[in-house]
Amino acid sequence: MNCCDYDCIQGRDCPARVAKAKPVMLAAEALPPSTWRLSLRVWTWWMLVAAVAVPYIPVLAYFALRE
Ligand SMILES: [Zn+2]
Repeated sequence: MNCCDYDCIQGRDCPARVAKAKPVMLAAEALPPSTWRLSLRVWTWWMLVAAVAVPYIPVLAYFALRE
């Protein structure tokens, strides 16, 4: 409950009204490129690379070890 829920006398720039109009911006700022998210992306990328590369290891070993 704030002043804008009834007769607000502070106009459209009332702090309570501005705060109510801002949640989208706050949500966008709530997800900064933190170190944790960056390392998670790097980890996910390497897991993807490993998932693609690991099945080829026996093939590469076969070509590397054959004489
Ligand atoms: Zn107000």
